[in-house]
Amino acid sequence: MNTTLRIDQLRASVEGKEILKGLSLEVRGGEIHAVMGPNGTGKSTLASTLMGHPKYEVLGGSVTLNGEDLLEMDVDERGRAGLFLAMQYPSEITGVTNSDFMRSAINAGRGEGNEISLMKFIRLMEANMKTLEMNPEFMHRYLNEGFSGGEKKRNEILQMMMLQPKITILDEIDSGLDIDALRIVAQGVNSLRSADRGFLIITHYQRLLDYITPDFVHIMMQGRIVKSGGPELAQRLEAEGYEWVKEELGIEDETVGQDEDAFQMPMNTTGPKIR
Ligand code: ADP
Ligand code: MG
Repeated sequence: MNTTLRIDQLRASVEGKEILKGLSLEVRGGEIHAVMGPNGTGKSTLASTLMGHPKYEVLGGSVTLNGEDLLEMDVDERGRAGLFLAMQYPSEITGVTNSDFMRSAINAGRGEGNEISLMKFIRLMEANMKTLEMNPEFMHRYLNEGFSGGEKKRNEILQMMMLQPKITILDEIDSGLDIDALRIVAQGVNSLRSADRGFLIITHYQRLLDYITPDFVHIMMQGRIVKSGGPELAQRLEAEGYEWVKEELGIEDETVGQDEDAFQMPMNTTGPKIR
């Protein structure tokens, strides 16, 4: 069966604030969807909610992966079902080596009695690290500890390549990467492209999409998708920014869940008239 992630009218809150306000999106095998938007519009909240982060509470709507209710699954089950998230800020775990972590993750997916052999695992990890131009010593380093921003991002892509997920979500994988690293990361993603794998690429800037051509581009504002199109939409954002989208849709503040007292008046407005 072909892979389908179906998000329907998803609403979610964090710390009592509603952030996702009815978001619908369908990602099928073979498709790359880019979700773009200014900061504070709910992009990472979407990623965390899909992965089942405990801080994010689902208020309504549904998410299914190949017809199965994703929202009913715990985090591990979501991974086993074929969902993978490369995080915007990967955590560091002292005492667990990168290779131990990846081997457990692979074996969790394969199930008891079907574990990958150590030799096969090492060969696979070495081959993928070579593709990503990573120093072999990263195999034995504690997970993300002392990794630079760019090394963490590469390591997330390494996990993706090892796990071969059905649906991959990349949250700002391009932030903090120079052009060389960006090209290498894109190469990793492109190497996994296939008819039964789908990608949801969350990004603020268009530059990653120079290397990974999306099939669909969605703009997120105020916790929902406000506009969708093809790759040309990302190019227009690159050239003109987000202002025209706000004007076209009559949106003044594109962010969601900001505290009232943190709200700042635009510089060119005058205060209320006092008579
Ligand atoms: P984006 O990824 O588009 O920059 P986020 O989803 O990170 O947007 O954030 C959107 C809003 O959600 C933030 O302005 C904040 O109010 C709220 N938010 C997101 N994550 C958290 C969190 N872990 N704790 C508190 N508030 C959060
Ligand atoms: Mg974010």
